[in-house]
Amino acid sequence: MRHRSIPGSSGRPRPMRLLGDPVLREPCRDVTAFDAGLRELIEDMFATMYAANGVGLAANQIGVPLRVFVYDCPDDEDRRHLGHIVNPRLVTADGELVRGPEGCLSLPGIEAGTPRHDRAVVTGVTYDGAPVEVTGTGFFARCLQHECDHLDGGLYTDHLAGLRRRRALRAARRAPWAGRDRAAS
Ligand code: ZN
Repeated sequence: MRHRSIPGSSGRPRPMRLLGDPVLREPCRDVTAFDAGLRELIEDMFATMYAANGVGLAANQIGVPLRVFVYDCPDDEDRRHLGHIVNPRLVTADGELVRGPEGCLSLPGIEAGTPRHDRAVVTGVTYDGAPVEVTGTGFFARCLQHECDHLDGGLYTDHLAGLRRRRALRAARRAPWAGRDRAAS
């Protein structure tokens, strides 16, 4: 997911994994060690997300197959939502199904009208194991569903059908970053 303005971060950006990298297609494991390494991962995820002008980032997008995502994302009322969730579960996705523009830092430069529920609730824990529940509507609900998909090995293109899907996958195959695995899934 992409963003317009960029706050600072104390982490270190790590290389972004792109479509075709198998780590994006494997379900991530639950975090079991709530240690300094986890805090460093979260800081680096924020740094990577901001460096790429993103509004959300899942850990497997930087090659770490653990259930963690970060976000700094506006909703449709321009309220800012900033945080991270460890071991997230999408417990509710309901409300109207809205088709809206969606992109992904792992498919840079590509966007497609993608159907998503207008409201989403995600539960999980913070870096220190404290329970957290996050409710999103509009564009932020889209972001929550997008990041949860990543941790299950999903991509937003999985939600596309017909011409929209063919167009997006063709653009991905022809993109300057398209790599070894040219059979975009
Ligand atoms: Zn994404």
